[in-house]
Amino acid sequence: MTPNQQTNVFNVLIDAFIRSLACPLCLGSLEHDNRGALLCRLCNANFPVRAGFPSFITPRVLKLLTSRGVSESLLGRWAESMESTYSWRNKKDSHARSRAPFSRKLTKEHRLDPEVIYKLLDLIQLAKGKWVLDLGCGTALRANHFPDSNYLGLDPCVAAINHGVPFVQGIAECLPLQSNFFDVLLSIDVFDHLISPDLAMAEILRVLRPGGCLYLSVGDTEDEAYLLHKQSRQMFGISEVKAHLHRFDSSFFQMRLGDAFSELEIHRSKGYLFVHGKGKLYESK
Ligand SMILES: [Zn+2]
Repeated sequence: MTPNQQTNVFNVLIDAFIRSLACPLCLGSLEHDNRGALLCRLCNANFPVRAGFPSFITPRVLKLLTSRGVSESLLGRWAESMESTYSWRNKKDSHARSRAPFSRKLTKEHRLDPEVIYKLLDLIQLAKGKWVLDLGCGTALRANHFPDSNYLGLDPCVAAINHGVPFVQGIAECLPLQSNFFDVLLSIDVFDHLISPDLAMAEILRVLRPGGCLYLSVGDTEDEAYLLHKQSRQMFGISEVKAHLHRFDSSFFQMRLGDAFSELEIHRSKGYLFVHGKGKLYESK
């Protein structure tokens, strides 16, 4: 694809998705400026387009995080961890590109647990004609699972994204998205890579519309398989995976989501937690 063709694809995608976007600094609406970047109508902040996608990781956004209690040293550790995540992901991505059939990809991704797979198939049905945010979408291959939805991927890294998938570069702690907008929010194996899981959780609840649902998975620190794996790594002097800045057990999600949804299911399986919040109960400010 030539740079010109890339820009055209980008403009078409952004015209379709611009109403889901908001300035991450002040939540004002965005519009194209005369150089093809996005401009906030409220605070005049400017967001560049890199590699064909709008980027919402700017020095001002990172500064906002520090004003919300994120330390410089944590930001530094996160930047380092992103490098190890993406070198791993790029290796894995060469397998994904082999275009496995839909059901096999789904099975592989969700570790052969029928309960999890059925739930995800239900979610794909439910999301038809609706707005889906894939938070920490990685290569955005999951877009293939949602052909009949308004799918938007968000990730800090653009390197592995296929052009033609609606995507924005951003961070979960400061989402460039309208409040009370998305019907379905997915976050698959992302939470242990975040800068601040607490800030991200507040943002997730902000952008989900009332009645909307959340589906996320993350490594389960209470699980025997996980603990055994950790012990054996320690025994052989192998350090923890550098990319994982946080670890969770089910109480983390229970505490933060228990009052936010009419129904909250937490399912533990094979070293992972699967969290499903159904029917967000309130409108966010
Ligand atoms: Zn703004």
